[in-house]
This record gives sequence, structure tokens and C-alpha cells, in this order.
Amino acid sequence: MADETFIKPDLSFVKRIMAAGGDTAKKCYQCDTCSVVCNLTPTSQPFPRKEMLQAQWGLKEVVKSPDIWLCHQCSDCTVLCPRGAKPGEVLGVLRQMCIEQYAFPSFLAGKVGDPKWLPLLIAFPVLLLLFVLNIFGLMRIPEGTIQYSKLFPTLLVDVIFMGAAAFAVFVFVNGVRQYWKDLNVNPWKVKVEGNLVRDLIATLKDIISHNRFRQCETTFARSLNHLLVFFGFVFLAVVTALAFYREWFEAHDAVTNVYLAMKLLAIPGTAALLYGIYGIYQERLKNADKAGAGTYFDWLFIFVVAAVGVTGLFSWVFRLIGIKMLAYPTYFIHLVSVFFLFFYAPYSKMAHMVYRTVAMLYARMAKRGF
Ligand code: SF4
Ligand code: SF4
Repeated sequence: MADETFIKPDLSFVKRIMAAGGDTAKKCYQCDTCSVVCNLTPTSQPFPRKEMLQAQWGLKEVVKSPDIWLCHQCSDCTVLCPRGAKPGEVLGVLRQMCIEQYAFPSFLAGKVGDPKWLPLLIAFPVLLLLFVLNIFGLMRIPEGTIQYSKLFPTLLVDVIFMGAAAFAVFVFVNGVRQYWKDLNVNPWKVKVEGNLVRDLIATLKDIISHNRFRQCETTFARSLNHLLVFFGFVFLAVVTALAFYREWFEAHDAVTNVYLAMKLLAIPGTAALLYGIYGIYQERLKNADKAGAGTYFDWLFIFVVAAVGVTGLFSWVFRLIGIKMLAYPTYFIHLVSVFFLFFYAPYSKMAHMVYRTVAMLYARMAKRGF
């Protein structure tokens, strides 16, 4: 007798998918065009048709599937779906739900994905930074030349932002541990073998080169823009990390020039970040009809990254031209944006960097499409 499979549909899961922007899932009639046209799907148990079925039936195990992360939302399937079911968009919603599932505390993940909570989410870093300024008697526009350390002493910035980053890392480690565990007891029973370090290096090479993303056709431009944002982000992260050690550099004359040269990375980093994010914005609007307009979750991430880049750029410009009444408030907004980006990273679309990496590593070790 054949093995029996029991499924447990969950109507509330279907409702959540629809509320988060995946309401087209119910239109799917399982023709399989999407899996045929996808350039990234493996030949065995291809996506996204099966995920559409799982989404329609309320089979919530689908959020644990590595396959939802192997999709780069190129929208080829969305364009060619004869029913307008937008499988690329539905998979995007499933990824959002995966992030929510593995985030801790989970209620915060739900709030980040809900526009009603945005004012409160912004209010938290604003009030925190104002509170810190008040406690240290710094609630005023500093006298003299513009130096942001006069408003926020570097030690304060280090403590606040390292605290936010440490919190995000803790949540990510916790989520990834659980996700990896779930992947390895998943209902697909894929045998995982291989060398973790070697496969992780190969996975990171895939990510850095965007070689999978570049197989997209409909929204090919998105892969280039995403690459620019990615490298802009890396450059700015390097400069920010170096800033934590600036006193050490300044105390060692021999390497001070190296430090100053590395700081210049902020210029191409900001340019790449802003140009890339503008390209993503334009490309999404241009393809909205055929490829889908994206969800609130997608747009929130785009706007937060843009806010970090724009406020960082204008903080620099206003300081150079010496307009302190604009420079200090812009710098304050910049700090709020950076805090928002890092503190909420495990609950926002930024978490895709972590979960996609883990899923791609798993898929590579399971010889699934790699
Ligand atoms: S999502 Fe569209 S293309 Fe894919 S199986 Fe359903 S109806 Fe067919
Ligand atoms: S959006 Fe692109 S990568 Fe994702 S399933 Fe559709 S065709 Fe494949």
C-alpha cells in the first residue's frame, strides 16, 4: 500500500497570505506554466507551482521550504501566468512569512510588516535618541564648526548602534538555528551532504556575483541595481566598521593614511547605494502592471535604505557648506534611519540577506538546482 500523506490546511494562514499582498494566489489553476518558464527552478519538484498550491490550501510548512528563497522574484512567471495569479509576488509574501516565523519576538515581526505600526516603529528610535540627548544635556544645536560628535559623542553612538546591531545578530542567530533545524527535518526529505565551509564559500560567490539573479529576463535590470545596492552597502559597512577603530588609527601615524583612504569608500558606496535604489524604484514602477507592484514589506525596505543613503549624503553636504540648522537635524534623521535599518533588520526585508544565504547553502548541500 502506498504511503499516506496527511495534510493540515490552515485557513488563517491563507487569510494572512492574502492580507500581506498574496491575494492572487487563489486564481492559480495549476497549469504549471510558471515552473516551466522559471530559469532558476530545479528539474525535480520545481517551484513555484507547488508553492502556489500549498499557499491556496493553507499548508503552512511552505514557509520552511528552501525553494521560496531560490526564487529571485524576477517575475518571468508572473508575466506569463495565464491566470494573473502572480506567483513571483506570492513567493515574495511567503518569504515575508518565513522571516516572521523565525524572528523573535514574533509579534515585532508582524508589526514591521503592518503599515499601521510604522509611526510607532519610527517613534522608538526617535524617542530613544532624544532621551539620550536629554540625559547628557546635548539637546541643542552645538556652537562653532559643524562636528557631529558635538551633538552625539562618538562613544554614545558606538554604544547605541553596537547595541542595536548586537540585538539584531542575536535574533538572527536564534532564527537561523531554528530554520536550519527545520530545513533538515523538512517534509521534502532532501539528503544534505557536502562540506559546509566549501559550500558556504561557493554560496557566497553566487551571491556576490549575482549569477543566479542575472538569469532573470523580465526584470533583468533589477539584478544590476540590486548588485549596486549590495556593493554600496558593503562599502558603507566597511567604512562604518572602521570608524569604530578611528582612535586606534589616529594614534598610529603609519596607518592613518590608510584609514583616510578607506574612508573615501563612502563616496562610491553612497553613489552605488543611491543609484541602485533609485533604479529599483524606477524599475518596480515601470513593470508594475506585468510584474506586480510589490508589497508594503518590499517598499518599506526600499524607502529605509533610500533614507539612510539620502540623509547620509545630505549630512555630508550640509556640513561641507556649513549650514548647521540643516546639518544637525539631517544627521539626527540619518541616525534614526540607520537605527531603524539595523534594529528591525531581522523583521524586515533586510533579513532576506540572511535567510536566502542559508537556503542557498542548504540547496547546494542538498544538490538541489546547483
Ligand atoms: S501560478 Fe499561474 S502559471 Fe503557475 S500554475 Fe498557477 S495558473 Fe499556472
Ligand atoms: S519570480 Fe522568477 S525566479 Fe521566482 S519563481 Fe518566478 S520565474 Fe522563478
